[in-house]
Amino acid sequence: MTILITGATLPDGTRTDLLLDKGVIAERGTNLSAAKARVVDAAGLQALPGLVDLHTHLREPGFEQSETVLTGSRAAAAGGFTAVHAMANTSPVQDTAGVVEQVASLGQQHGYVTVRPVGAVTAGLAGERLSEIGAMAQSRAAVRVFSDDGKCVHDALLMRRALEYVTTFDGVIAQHAQEPRLTEGAQMNEGAVSAELGLAGWPAVAEEAIIARDVLLAEAVGARLHVCHVSTAGSVDILRWAKARGIRVTAEVTPHHLLLTDELARGYDARFKVNPPLRRDADVEAVREALSDGTIDIVATDHAPHPLESKECAWQEASFGMVGLESALSVVQQAMVDAGRLSWADVARVLSRVPAEIGRLKGYAAPFEVGSPAHLTLYDPAASSVFDVDHLHGMSVNSPYLGRELPGRVVATIHGGVPTVLDGSLREAEEVGRG
Ligand SMILES: [Zn+2]
Repeated sequence: MTILITGATLPDGTRTDLLLDKGVIAERGTNLSAAKARVVDAAGLQALPGLVDLHTHLREPGFEQSETVLTGSRAAAAGGFTAVHAMANTSPVQDTAGVVEQVASLGQQHGYVTVRPVGAVTAGLAGERLSEIGAMAQSRAAVRVFSDDGKCVHDALLMRRALEYVTTFDGVIAQHAQEPRLTEGAQMNEGAVSAELGLAGWPAVAEEAIIARDVLLAEAVGARLHVCHVSTAGSVDILRWAKARGIRVTAEVTPHHLLLTDELARGYDARFKVNPPLRRDADVEAVREALSDGTIDIVATDHAPHPLESKECAWQEASFGMVGLESALSVVQQAMVDAGRLSWADVARVLSRVPAEIGRLKGYAAPFEVGSPAHLTLYDPAASSVFDVDHLHGMSVNSPYLGRELPGRVVATIHGGVPTVLDGSLREAEEVGRG
């Protein structure tokens, strides 16, 4: 399909027409025209490079009652994403070349987004011995990000070996920083609210102690380390120190840690139960500041679908996690752009270019340049709506934003020249799929 986008505002604020043909940006300029092109009027819309999520749980294989590669891909496209990194805690675990190739090829078949599997660091996520890291890196899935996410690689020797191993092919270890002994039975952030509610607390130091150890290990080895879902002010301080020292560390923050606090646990609504937990106001302020000043490099969703029965139950029994793909851009707009703390050029950096760089994903280095792959999103920042289940396109509805007014609307998402969202509607599988 040839697509002519007219009058879009690029992240740098300039207005332009874009002609998309054969999967690439074929022309860029003013008053472009093309016979037989599908014209998309983008007046008033913000064009962004296709969003890239470094942290998505797609649940397939093994947990298809929560999400599948297809449904998660649809949720991603609806949120403006054109690529996601699929976390390894599936069943079987993504710890062999066979499983990562299966997940990548399902993504390719469905076509909504590029699905890049994350490989497990340890076999079966058991934390005892390294997985087949080299085989996954060399497989057709060409894995570059390795993580036991959901669990922490807490054995320092294993973590050191994993860091050493991935340097041989420019990979990265993405750590879920959670000291397991300090968080046994923990239900929410440790602080005044947990004390009042009588719920077992999750201390900030459980995250910070692992980050401190890991930046030192990364320095000793000369490896790349990525820290998942940073949630505390103390973690930010450690990252700031590590970056000033030249350690090769990158970090992500989730949209929910930019907006929500542990006060929400007071209603015992398990939609607000997440790992790491929602923290205090002071932590939210610290992660916002860190994202503004570059101490935190990117926003990643940690999209974690769970079926209703795992969430509509007592807080103590409920699963940890929230869906987040469809709401990510709106939350970033509200918490950061509307608050004057990020520009749209910054949003393009933290939600597309840098996550692609960390994952060594090609095609996102020079968005909107003629000849670049046509991965882009058209977004209406002036729109606003009450976020409800109609906004959700995956299998699970465990969103913390249901009933909340959020700004913005994804009007179009284009993945490799193929529209996955057009006129604000998700397109059908047969219009998008590649077989
Ligand atoms: Zn995690």
